[in-house]
Amino acid sequence: MTGAVEGPFGGVGSEDETLLLDAVERFLAKDVKPVAHALEQADEYPAEIVEKMKALGLFGATIGQRYGGLGLPATTYARIVERVSAVWMSVSGIFNSHLIMCAAIERFGSEAMKESLLPRLAAGELRGGIALTEPDCGTDLQAIRTRAVRDGDHYVVNGTKQWITNAAEGNVLAVLVRTDPETTPAHRGISLLVVEKSAGYVARRLKKLGYRGVDTAEVAFQDVRVPVAGLVGDQEGRGLQQILSGLALGRINVAARGVGVADACLQSALAYAQQRHTFGQPIASHQAIQLKLADMATRVEAGRLLTDKAAAAYDSGRRCDLEAGMAKLFSTEAAVTNAMEALRIHGASGYSSDNDVERFYRDAPLLAIGEGTNEMQRIIIARQLVERAEG
Ligand SMILES: Cc1cc2nc3c(=O)[nH]c(=O)nc-3n(C[C@H](O)[C@H](O)[C@H](O)COP(=O)(O)OP(=O)(O)OC[C@H]3O[C@@H](n4cnc5c(N)ncnc54)[C@H](O)[C@@H]3O)c2cc1C
Repeated sequence: MTGAVEGPFGGVGSEDETLLLDAVERFLAKDVKPVAHALEQADEYPAEIVEKMKALGLFGATIGQRYGGLGLPATTYARIVERVSAVWMSVSGIFNSHLIMCAAIERFGSEAMKESLLPRLAAGELRGGIALTEPDCGTDLQAIRTRAVRDGDHYVVNGTKQWITNAAEGNVLAVLVRTDPETTPAHRGISLLVVEKSAGYVARRLKKLGYRGVDTAEVAFQDVRVPVAGLVGDQEGRGLQQILSGLALGRINVAARGVGVADACLQSALAYAQQRHTFGQPIASHQAIQLKLADMATRVEAGRLLTDKAAAAYDSGRRCDLEAGMAKLFSTEAAVTNAMEALRIHGASGYSSDNDVERFYRDAPLLAIGEGTNEMQRIIIARQLVERAEG
């Protein structure tokens, strides 16, 4: 599992990283924090924030520098994602699935595909994500039905994808398709196609509990003609493996989001507990509240360490599904639990939609579902434990 990108970026703890994280903090304070609440409540796409993200280079964060990206290691990338998610998790969704698609193209695409797509993806001129899930399957991706039939120098794509982030506002998707319905095992008949919106797919935005602002859509493909040059790699039947290997980076990203949300819950609860008084004392001096704060802080710290460890394993090029699975599982459950605890510490005011903790409480559960559910993470972790024990 290689994530290491060659380039002059100084790496973790370097001056480069400090400067970059400072720039991200300034962007969050100036361009995201003041508008996040209103945009989230209105479920409005943050178009101006996206323009600023392009200028910061976030759409090319993990793309190699030779293709116009920043070439960041996963460790630095995770630190950016944590900071962004602590302010507004939806913003991190706009570049995460985009970068999973980019990782698949960079690792498995032909040189011609990389040269034609990656510079535009890094600049944010092309933006999009991954279209895997369908109405009848999400975890069991071998059951997908979307078909791509070869017709001369094109594929003709028919089918429906569901819950696809960035499909409506973006303009390109990496789509998991069935190119051979007969082959067994089924994954050998599954391929990955890069499809630009101009080819003719139709995206319809879905309504959601949280994770608002960023678009998540149902995508209909009806006789959509895609040039064969859109096939990732030089052979059909490799799509599932190509996209699953990109999901390790996706899981590290979701783990970092979990740390960000869990920390935002802690900071909000800590501030409120010092300011709110009952029985003549700040509630922070009641032991019942102290116990909650201590557990919340410990979860944040443990999640951050697991995420950093998983990102370092990814950067070293080692197989890291065990580490990424543990980081994703722990940090996202930490976000779910901390959101509930923050809400309780806030009492009735936590239940108000004027309060950010109400948003954290609606955003956090997605983290337990996306990039492989937490039930599946446990299965992946257990399988890896057994495999590594067998040597
Ligand atoms: C807001 C949002 C954004 C999303 N964005 C994207 C996107 O950009 N691209 C994309 O392709 N998808 C996206 N998804 C879909 C997401 O990846 C899937 O929802 C997820 O993979 C789970 O699939 P499912 O919902 O079909 O659940 P199912 O696969 O039907 O699972 C239902 C339940 O059964 C459990 N389960 C399933 N199989 C097993 C098993 N073998 N053992 C134990 N338990 C099992 C699951 O853990 C879950 O609890 C998004 C979803 C949401 C809500």
